[in-house]
Amino acid sequence: MKFGGTSVADGSKIKNVASLIKRFYDAKNEVIVVVSALSGVTDQLEKIAKKASEDGKTSDVRSFMKNIKERHYSVAKEAIAGEELKAVVEELNARLKDLENALISICHLRELTARSNDYISSFGERLSAPILSASLKSMNLSSVTLTGGDAGIVTDSNFKNARPLLDMTDIKVKERISPLLQKQTIPVITGFVAADDKGIITTLSRGGSDYTASLIGAAIDADEIWIWTDVNGIMTSDPRIISDARTLPTISYLEAMELSYFGAKVLHPKTIEPAIKKGIAVRVRNTFNSDHPGTLIVNSHEEIKDIIKAVTLIRNVALIHISGSGMAGIPGVAGRVFTALGRIGANIMMISQSSSEANISLVVDESQLDLSLNALKTEFTENIVKDIFYDKNICVIAVVGDGMAGIPGVAGRVFTALGRIGANIMMISQGSSEANISFVVNKADSQKAVRELHDEFKLGVER
Ligand code: ADP
Ligand code: ASP
Ligand code: MG
Repeated sequence: MKFGGTSVADGSKIKNVASLIKRFYDAKNEVIVVVSALSGVTDQLEKIAKKASEDGKTSDVRSFMKNIKERHYSVAKEAIAGEELKAVVEELNARLKDLENALISICHLRELTARSNDYISSFGERLSAPILSASLKSMNLSSVTLTGGDAGIVTDSNFKNARPLLDMTDIKVKERISPLLQKQTIPVITGFVAADDKGIITTLSRGGSDYTASLIGAAIDADEIWIWTDVNGIMTSDPRIISDARTLPTISYLEAMELSYFGAKVLHPKTIEPAIKKGIAVRVRNTFNSDHPGTLIVNSHEEIKDIIKAVTLIRNVALIHISGSGMAGIPGVAGRVFTALGRIGANIMMISQSSSEANISLVVDESQLDLSLNALKTEFTENIVKDIFYDKNICVIAVVGDGMAGIPGVAGRVFTALGRIGANIMMISQGSSEANISFVVNKADSQKAVRELHDEFKLGVER
């Protein structure tokens, strides 16, 4: 079971989470817990680290430390009863001292590497996990806290977006977690945080606690992997954009992957991979409405009733156009684009090439735009490519559903609906799985476009 940041935002919410865990544990389940940082803390840690490296003011660090200390102490006081509180406060003190020292060092060095960023941002989970574990203990359950690294997740050293070494992780997680389960102890593991093979702290990229849960679940051959969050499961669209978005009772692994890849923040894009490998069902449920069944994600499901299941939106992306009449008929241009961007670790979210072969369009994360443009300019110095330009004023929208494979007319309906609201489509792509159609529109048109598509496919209507 993984609990997200909003589920553990304060002391009473942590108590609620601990009672939930107890309820399932008492019903004769073995439970492994993965927990996120208290909501907002990872953002705050990244922000102060950046500020420290830019301004070097230790006074900023001291006032940040005061706030983070007060928040965690008061959360601990509310979530933990009796004896356990003292031990946790000692542990929090030690962690907070480490954090302060690291931030002060960054002030002096005026430098923030990806590696030190991971060390700093790991404190969110390293502070929340002991509190939840102690809250369980004060309910008379046996529990221990582990970091992702302690639990056996070993990654490469690609800081901020580390990739698990799966074979080693599988073996180590089993070795370390099984004995705890045999002793009826509930492990509370930090989400998002792992370690490389030298024991240096790494992170699995933002939102990565979901991935921690599925890595652990798969390694231990769990019966199910449960992601507890702040909505009633995976919905037909982001409920923050579409007020009548509806919970999907069941979806396939493929649909969940496409949805999370194309912006449904409710699941980290890599969550489903380990589950697929072991055929483990994933459930997404609401911590604040625990009687709701949520969404079940399984291999394939009963007869497909809906062609389109959901509409997603990705913000903070940028479109890059590469063009030049010299590109036509020259083999390897696309390959060089991929290689150049691969070298700098940029992730190409979408790509399309016109049939004239005179231009290639691609979408990357906005944070990787400058690096990507530089890499492309360095790669194409000769005359093949004439222009490389970009547009940051865009969003990617995707419609997702297994049912569209082999059904004609879906794209027609999508683009007719967009035509109705006058949205200009700047790029289109369809995965070969045919489980999604994705396209790029102007930021200004994006919310209206999601709304129109949600209505077109009647996604808000109860089935
Ligand atoms: P957690 O802190 O539990 O990991 P997140 O904030 O990462 O939670 O993800 C949950 C949020 O994802 C929801 O509050 C919702 O606003 C957003 N979201 C975006 N798309 C969807 C969707 N299709 N279904 C459900 N939630 C979605
Ligand atoms: N705390 C981390 C983040 O905010 C990981 C997570 O919440 O999944 O990105
Ligand atoms: Mg999340």
